[in-house]
Amino acid sequence: MDYTKLSSYVDSRKQEYLNELSRMIRIESISADLSKKVEMVRCAEAVSGLMREAGIENVKPFETEGNPLVYGEYIHAGDNPTVLVYGHYDVQPVDPLSEWETPPFEATMRGDDLYARGSSDDKGQLFMHLKAFEAFGKLNEKIPVNLKYIFEGEEEIGSIHLEPFIRSHKDLLKADVVVISDTAMYGRDMPTICYGLRGMAYLELSVSNSTIDLHSGSFGGAIENPVHVLADIVSRLHDRYGRVAIPHFYDDVVEVSKEEREEIARLPYSDGEFLRQSGALATYGEYGFSTNERLWIRPTLDVNGIYGGFTGEGAKTIIPSKATAKVSMRLVPNQKSEKILGLFESFINQIAPPTVKVTVKKMHSGEPALTPIDHPAVKAASAALEHVFGRKPYFIREGGSIPEVLTFQQILGAPVVLLGFGLPDENSHAPNEHIYLRHFYDGIKTLAIFYEKLSM
Ligand SMILES: [Zn+2]
Repeated sequence: MDYTKLSSYVDSRKQEYLNELSRMIRIESISADLSKKVEMVRCAEAVSGLMREAGIENVKPFETEGNPLVYGEYIHAGDNPTVLVYGHYDVQPVDPLSEWETPPFEATMRGDDLYARGSSDDKGQLFMHLKAFEAFGKLNEKIPVNLKYIFEGEEEIGSIHLEPFIRSHKDLLKADVVVISDTAMYGRDMPTICYGLRGMAYLELSVSNSTIDLHSGSFGGAIENPVHVLADIVSRLHDRYGRVAIPHFYDDVVEVSKEEREEIARLPYSDGEFLRQSGALATYGEYGFSTNERLWIRPTLDVNGIYGGFTGEGAKTIIPSKATAKVSMRLVPNQKSEKILGLFESFINQIAPPTVKVTVKKMHSGEPALTPIDHPAVKAASAALEHVFGRKPYFIREGGSIPEVLTFQQILGAPVVLLGFGLPDENSHAPNEHIYLRHFYDGIKTLAIFYEKLSM
């Protein structure tokens, strides 16, 4: 494909793209609002329509007990890779409505941005994939890879029916790589690929003594206090270097290469901005690592809440029967949540005194995800971004997790590339959501070139 031709073709279509996207935006597909059921179906139909117009084949909605999933494909590239594109057509609620400067479902241009609910998350980005596909046909170019599309309408309410659908349609969705455009770039004109997400292990730790609170005069001093024990346990979960003190906690942590750490250090970052965003007084964390490293490549343990005994007004003289802490651990490759939960439990059993009963209740967990930066799909995405944006992309990770990524990775066994074109300050879940139009147009070009680079 001639990239100059592609670029001028996309530039020549700008107004039509905006008109078409505005029509999709007008549909109030708020998945959290049960009174919008009809809108959800209408939006799934609108997405199907755009897919068919683009030339995508076998487009069909799959009904679920919730909102429909829309599937489509174009399989004409023989042995070349198969790419599965995921996106979502549902949006976040719009309240507080009074804070919107223009109506949330009327796409409005202001400055370099298009304002509307869903403009960035994720209707705008889903739309970019469809237009990248369409460009090949309009330019009489052969589509260089096999493409499959799956768009859901429940992402903002936890993707309830996505996982069972992927499980029961493994063959239909089989792909060499999954591409998701639903994340943000590091900053304006800073092409970014997100290649790693932390996992999570969550638990509840309880320390108990008797079944009822006891009188602190009749029993105090002669019976161990569960709140004291819990506080002691919590204080022993970290060492003074900010490291988690559970034996073998770091055994499976992949040591990050010098090159990768240099890549992280290359990112524009300032403590001042980070502190402004967090409202905290100072940064803190594991000795020997930078803030971004602490967030992305190192695991953590945090007590999310602690409670026990009397916390009401006034005074009450008791020895509490029980004290509880909620604990979350963010995991990095190649830690496994089950193993980490086990290590936590044995450490607690080892340090808890015999005077109390401790229980560890495992709650939810998810594994960390990583697509190596030298994976061919990441390289293709990197080359496409560099071509369009004129600079080498930044490689970042996320400190949190994106459940869909894991679902695809685990069930389909395919690597996931997060090629997002949003920006961190585009208010994706807040009033006045917008998308930076240059990223919108350049994203269409990038995705078309990405498809082609994948076939090379
Ligand atoms: Zn989204």
